[in-house]
Amino acid sequence: MSHTHTTTRAESGDGGAPALSAEEPPSRVEGGERALLAAVVRALKAWGHAIDHGDDCALMPPLGGAQLLTTDALAEGVHFDLAWDTLEQVGAQAAVVNLSDLAASGGAPRGLLWSLSLPPALSADQAEALAWGFAKVAARWGAPVLGGNLCVRPGPLEVHVTALGAAPAARLHRRGARPGDGVFVTGALGARALGYLEPSEASRALRHLWRPHLPEAAALVSWGAVTAMMDISDGLLLDAHRLAEESDVALALESPLLPICPRMSALASSPPVALRAALRGGEDYVLLFTAPGAPPPEAHATRVGACLAPRPGGARVTLDGAPAAPEGYEHALGAPR
Ligand SMILES: [Mg+2]
Repeated sequence: MSHTHTTTRAESGDGGAPALSAEEPPSRVEGGERALLAAVVRALKAWGHAIDHGDDCALMPPLGGAQLLTTDALAEGVHFDLAWDTLEQVGAQAAVVNLSDLAASGGAPRGLLWSLSLPPALSADQAEALAWGFAKVAARWGAPVLGGNLCVRPGPLEVHVTALGAAPAARLHRRGARPGDGVFVTGALGARALGYLEPSEASRALRHLWRPHLPEAAALVSWGAVTAMMDISDGLLLDAHRLAEESDVALALESPLLPICPRMSALASSPPVALRAALRGGEDYVLLFTAPGAPPPEAHATRVGACLAPRPGGARVTLDGAPAAPEGYEHALGAPR
């Protein structure tokens, strides 16, 4: 739904290209948004992002070959909870989830754009903390923040990000898995979900160890034998269903093979809770892929099952031989089931 606003840009712009402009309802005093914008730009510059805020558009860097684009949003109360998560962690999360999607397609990051919807109570220091987390992760993974926008309005904090990447010569898709392939993941499962299932300071802290699996993706692209790939954002079972459907195969997963995060397991109240977090929790941001043969060590891959030919009326995904429903993180429910 549209709303009336004016667009404000800092007047100190020296003609540089990339833009980070502030939108504000006409009733608000300009100084508030200016202070927020200045705080955000300060954090971005501290991490080496050559951001300016004098123009209306950012300049896209020249890119050879095919490009990848992806966009994802984080909303307060859905993807994070400021009672548990710090603003710096939220900013970091916003960068990670988008960079993880680039990794899922075998891409290399080339830039990020973001749009912030900030509640009026947010201070400049808080805006700076949010931008700091975002800028730090972006810098760590070689993704310049090209520009952005901020608007202050009543309601939950939202961070919308668009990521730009270079596509590999042979793009990786969710489709392409073949019967006989192994099924692999590139990292531990369940670390993020326990913070929802059994929230505590320790379990919530585990959420924020996430990172985009870009080095693993690069190793797999070089290897060249991956037949299908995606990142696990909504839980192994649900995302395995998606890959199996796109590829028209069945996936037979084996629970003893799952690399369940040991730190999560130690915190969980029981082994079934730990298993539930690993299978259905989501927000793992590791890669799920299929391939014949043994992946290179740099991919840190663990085999968790096998691809089979689909049978009419048969389950798309089985766990230890039994049909496994596509259960996972459902944002509408606010928590993993
Ligand atoms: Mg994804």
